[in-house]
Amino acid sequence: MTDDIRSQLGLREIINVSGTMTSLGASIVVPEAIEAMRAILPQFVEINDLQRKASAVIARLTGAEAGFVTASCSAGISLAVAGTITGANLLAIEKLPETTNEKAEIIVQMGHIVSYGAPVDQSIRLAGGKVVMIGQATSTHRYHMEEAIGEKTAAAVYVVSHHVVNYGLLHLTEFVEIAHAHGVPVIVDAASEYDLRGFLAAGANIVLYSGHKFLGGPTSGIVAGKKELVRRAFLQNLGIGRGMKVGKESIYGVMAALDAWEKRDHDAIRAREKAALALWHDVLGGRPGVTALIEPDPTGNPLDRLRVILDSQATHITAWDLAAALRKGTPPIIVRDHEVEHHYFYLDPCNLHPGQAESVARRLAEELDKAQASNAIIATPIEDLSRNRFNGLLRWPD
Ligand SMILES: *Cc1c(COP(=O)(O)O)cnc(C)c1O
Repeated sequence: MTDDIRSQLGLREIINVSGTMTSLGASIVVPEAIEAMRAILPQFVEINDLQRKASAVIARLTGAEAGFVTASCSAGISLAVAGTITGANLLAIEKLPETTNEKAEIIVQMGHIVSYGAPVDQSIRLAGGKVVMIGQATSTHRYHMEEAIGEKTAAAVYVVSHHVVNYGLLHLTEFVEIAHAHGVPVIVDAASEYDLRGFLAAGANIVLYSGHKFLGGPTSGIVAGKKELVRRAFLQNLGIGRGMKVGKESIYGVMAALDAWEKRDHDAIRAREKAALALWHDVLGGRPGVTALIEPDPTGNPLDRLRVILDSQATHITAWDLAAALRKGTPPIIVRDHEVEHHYFYLDPCNLHPGQAESVARRLAEELDKAQASNAIIATPIEDLSRNRFNGLLRWPD
């Protein structure tokens, strides 16, 4: 037994080269946030005053007029949307998700209705919003949005993510321009984006971030933007926000994570990430049927990932079977496999502890050597992945 808390709990000591995934425990929380949480947990505080302090820190880092901390970015979407529907009407806030106010339509591009683990549109519907999808999966034109806005439009939601369709849609500047021409506020879901200022600077009225992703804070969400809209979102804590509440430790933990982000040596972190990518690239280089490409983040975050493309005829294993072998092995390694049906996965270097990059390199070599030596090609039918995806979950807690 090691002193790793996971082995004490009987949990697998996974290595995360997938990204900041809720299902894997998000990110490595920075020491400053851990210390802040330790310091505040035994004390009583007046929560709304602590949220005032958080507002000031959020404002400083984002350029927003105000901000607050909630349970998650997903909660932030619901609260921000709710605020645009109820305004500061405390009775309307209590009545949600029932709306008496007719103004509850929320515009979203169809190509933005994705799942980040739960559907984007559900976070809107939870708040009493009526989702008005505009355009088609891979196209939105200006007229789609202009014609959809009407008397009942409360807000327009824009999602920034590697999950969204990445061509043919309205860009944020156009989206904002059209919304604002009709007096409609824009809410931007920027959960995973390192850019804390750009979306508000581009005209977003509210922007939402996850506290537990790149920031390395506790599980939480950050709501930032125009004071009046942020206040209306904050007031939802008397209603639907109650089930999304955060405690003092999360509020203060995020404040510390934001402070730490400001002071972080981003260049040193980038250099460590690049070293991991170079190591993996080296270990894969020259292997028959393996192509390894260092690629920038699709939404423009300042990070690269390694794309590992397999030709299973030459490697004797498919990309999804290699991902599964790494997941089952020792130590278990979880790769970024959203697109694995296209015969590749990514290795994300952003969540590594010292020594783990080397373990990943060693395990990649072991599994590829093993497959190479096998006569049969290891190739589970791709349909089995979707057929069996929820088997384990549906048996939980068994
Ligand atoms: C992760 C993510 C979310 C959800 O964030 P949580 O803070 O985990 O609720 C929402 N939107 C996008 C685009 C995300 O990447």
